[in-house]
Amino acid sequence: MSTTDRLLSKVKTFLNDSPVGLFIDGRFVPSADGATFTTLDPGDGSPVATVHEGKAADVEAAVTAAEQAFAHSGWATMPAKERSALLCKLADLVEKRLPELAQLESLDVGKPIAQARDGDIPNVAQTLRWYADLATHVHTCSPLKVDGFDACQVRKPWGVCAFVLPWNFPMLLVGWNIAPALAAGNTVVIKPAEDTPLSTLYFCTLVQEAGLPAGVVNVVPGYGESAGRALAEHPRIKHMGFTGSPEVGRHIASACGANLVPVKLELGGKGAAVVFDDVDIDATADKLVAALTLNTGQVCCTATRWILHEKIWDDFLSAVTGKLQAIRIGHGLEEGTQMGPAISDKQRRRILGYLEGGVAQGARPILEGGPAEVAGHPDGFYVKPALLAGEPDNICAVEEIFGPVAFLMRFKTEDEAVALVNRSAYGLANSVWTPDLKRAGRVAEAMVAGSSWINGHNLFPHGVPYAGCNLSGCGGGVLGSDTLFDYLRPQSIIRPTQ
Ligand code: NDP
Repeated sequence: MSTTDRLLSKVKTFLNDSPVGLFIDGRFVPSADGATFTTLDPGDGSPVATVHEGKAADVEAAVTAAEQAFAHSGWATMPAKERSALLCKLADLVEKRLPELAQLESLDVGKPIAQARDGDIPNVAQTLRWYADLATHVHTCSPLKVDGFDACQVRKPWGVCAFVLPWNFPMLLVGWNIAPALAAGNTVVIKPAEDTPLSTLYFCTLVQEAGLPAGVVNVVPGYGESAGRALAEHPRIKHMGFTGSPEVGRHIASACGANLVPVKLELGGKGAAVVFDDVDIDATADKLVAALTLNTGQVCCTATRWILHEKIWDDFLSAVTGKLQAIRIGHGLEEGTQMGPAISDKQRRRILGYLEGGVAQGARPILEGGPAEVAGHPDGFYVKPALLAGEPDNICAVEEIFGPVAFLMRFKTEDEAVALVNRSAYGLANSVWTPDLKRAGRVAEAMVAGSSWINGHNLFPHGVPYAGCNLSGCGGGVLGSDTLFDYLRPQSIIRPTQ
């Protein structure tokens, strides 16, 4: 069956209504200068849709719409209960339109349809509901006890919150980022990655249907250098959220520094998994293989450094190589695909370049990786999973590759393992694997990162903050209950006691 034959009729209609517009002030509109760009299916390199390309003038229009909606639509001032009801209606629509959203996400990113359908998209609905519910339960006015004064602190939404987001989890990250901002009463402008704007734009049809006031949600697809930069540098945004690479994160932070705008940075990672010699080898191998191949390894926090106890080195290697070789690589929309393509030819070349560079620096390929051929899709951007072993200063052990490549190192003692983990300049998330929970707890605390996972990898329960430190970001993270407060500015009200 061809890719087009698989598409649902609503998806076809959405894509055929091309070029897809920017979403500003509750309507799909063309870009100010009429420019467009094309988004590709990474599974076969063919065009999927033409999308209007936003630039500075469009960002200006979107920020103005969001500002007007903040001031006049009633969104910021309505009782939390009413906003929450609208966000829950939006969550219901995300669930109702899950098949369409999942197809668009799979098509645009290349990820297996099952992952989008069972993971990313349902999570968006959960996140919207979770923050909608939380916002009705938190105190936005706290009395403060001080002698001689009657004082309290109230919390108010900031105003226009801007978001620049990457291509690996487009819809999931829209949910994680905008749900707390909206639940707190802010209005938002989103710049999705130019590679993957489709699910976010389709989501806007649900924003319309749910009845959120016009201008509360605005989306300006376009290139980072133009639309992204214009949004980050816009003098009237009040809060900035960025998810992406540390390189671009620095530009965003500088722009926010110049305008004195608070900024949240969710950046890259070089996650480690420390595996002790008392694990169930087969079960642990299954989980690390799943983590490495999730989203073709294009996951900020995935386990890309495997730090294995020397006693299990050989057994673990033979377990994982067999499992990785058996991974079904294919087009995202084909049921049964376990690992889709890389997002783009550029990303595939980057992955292959790292493999060459790592080997040139002395790494030993345990599983060579390289381009993968998928029957029927000769022009897709497919790669095979790869395992390298070597020294901790190898480029593949140090830099974020963003592909299904793990770098393996061995350890003898707990201290050695922790030292290897903490050599990284990143600090996003690591995991430790052992049935000895005392030891697991010690190692979890000693690993320097925003998250330490025990006997699992990629664990994201709502209510537990997910944030990075060092090169992986700053500013408070996502998913936590405190995240809601990041989108509420504190204001002290004080008067002398009469
Ligand atoms: P980039 O940093 O290249 O891009 C992220 C976003 O920034 C895109 O929308 C991009 O636009 C935009 N952008 C690019 N240049 C500029 C600029 N000068 N000013 C403003 N915006 C700009 O990252 P990738 O898209 O390649 O995403 C992968 C990265 O994201 C990895 O490092 C990964 O680890 C990280 N990430 C971190 C997560 C976390 O939670 N910590 C979660 C997911 C990913 P465009 O694409 O259109 O150029």
